[in-house]
Amino acid sequence: MDRTNPATGESLEPIADDSEDDVDAALDAATETFAEWRDVPIRKRQRLLENAADVLRENEDEYAELMTREMGKTLASARSEVRKCAWVCDYYAENAADFLDAERRPGPAHAETSVSYEPIGPVLAVMPWNFPFWQVFRFAAPHLTAGNVGLLKHASNVPGCAQAIQEVFERAGYPEGVFQSLVVHSDRAERVIEDDRVVAVTLTGSARAGRSVAKTAGENLKKSVLELGGSDPFVVLDDADLDAAAKTGAQARTINAGQSCIAAKRFVVHTDVYDEWLDTFVAEMDDLTVGDPTDDDTDLGPQAREDLLETLHEQIRDTVDEGATLELGGEPLDREGFYYPPTVLADVPRDSVAACEEVFGPAAAVFEVESEEEAIELANDTHLGLGASVWTEDLERGERVAHRLDAGMTFVNELVKSDPRVPFGGVKDSGYGRELAEHGIEEFVNKKTVWVQ
Ligand code: NDP
Repeated sequence: MDRTNPATGESLEPIADDSEDDVDAALDAATETFAEWRDVPIRKRQRLLENAADVLRENEDEYAELMTREMGKTLASARSEVRKCAWVCDYYAENAADFLDAERRPGPAHAETSVSYEPIGPVLAVMPWNFPFWQVFRFAAPHLTAGNVGLLKHASNVPGCAQAIQEVFERAGYPEGVFQSLVVHSDRAERVIEDDRVVAVTLTGSARAGRSVAKTAGENLKKSVLELGGSDPFVVLDDADLDAAAKTGAQARTINAGQSCIAAKRFVVHTDVYDEWLDTFVAEMDDLTVGDPTDDDTDLGPQAREDLLETLHEQIRDTVDEGATLELGGEPLDREGFYYPPTVLADVPRDSVAACEEVFGPAAAVFEVESEEEAIELANDTHLGLGASVWTEDLERGERVAHRLDAGMTFVNELVKSDPRVPFGGVKDSGYGRELAEHGIEEFVNKKTVWVQ
């Protein structure tokens, strides 16, 4: 697999793809390991997960530098990503047994009924490059602890991260075969999903990839979970704290150089506060430092790949051609590497590219609305439905609006974020199924009824 440092455009040493025999051996190992791993007491699986958290914390710098080198996120954010991975391990190390405790059910007379949560087997995780550690740990921490074994097909631009994650589990003392990385490109994923030794698949990535994976999983009657990105609205109502909404809005749009499924992408602003909010927001966006991701002063590193930068720029040019006003940014930086500046588009037409497609970079699309009702209608006018954020000083109003937004996760006076303690996932074309919390760990278990007469 060819790798490029997006901060410089320089090639990194390639990593060899797995051969068909390698994949075959990995699937055999997964099957054999599952037969034993499923019977390892959950307390022991939880202890191993604690070890994984320790390995992550002990090697924070090594893993963070690897992420930055392969996909360009700032070193500071890569370090905090490693710590977040340790957190999700701690969380399931503490809670998995409670989440999966058999439930006694009031059953029929003269019979005892219960529901037990049993592992199902080797699960394939197809993962993206944007949070190359976090997306994988969000999958692995619950599902390995539930007694499944994991197979990772990571994005082709982060194969070093894939290898490092496998090493985390090895260093933590997991039996060989509980977590394996398959170094394969996406054109080989279908055969792995079809293989009888794989029982289920989860994917985080584009809708295009999601449809393909879901089709193969469906044809083979295998369970799938899909997390497919979003075009999250950030709704600023007429009674919002405008400074906070502008500051957090800029952060919510530019986190990870704008390459986050739950980044705020469409800013829906009430006409009474529109001018004031827009001025402050543009100033906040303009204040961000774009540059070398290893530099502590940098807020935004490069885009992760050259083709992604080109797609982003095309989306912005198209939206301007369709009538939007460019308030800030709008041209790639003239320097080595794949840098795009914070960009603000105002007066965005409702049927334009930035209104209709996911924009995966630091470019905000701003819309002006006349009322709360119009804000809700515009926010929901998308085929995606991952997260949403509402800004108002009236918390009851915020909660009421939050309930009316078509999204899997709604936040009032806060940016959308993932947290191990609450479920994560979307509706509409943002996918189905949930990750994290007890809802996540339940996705790949057999909820088995046991009836004893
Ligand atoms: P992809 O969806 O193509 O890649 C994500 C993962 O899916 C990678 O591991 C990729 O493998 C794999 N994949 C791609 N196509 C298939 C397929 N047909 N069958 C099985 N696996 C597949 O995203 P890109 O990297 O190309 O980014 C394109 C756009 O996708 C972004 O601009 C953004 O809009 C969205 N995206 C959303 C993410 C999110 O967090 N929801 C994350 C990443 C992207 P490989 O790398 O080998 O192609």
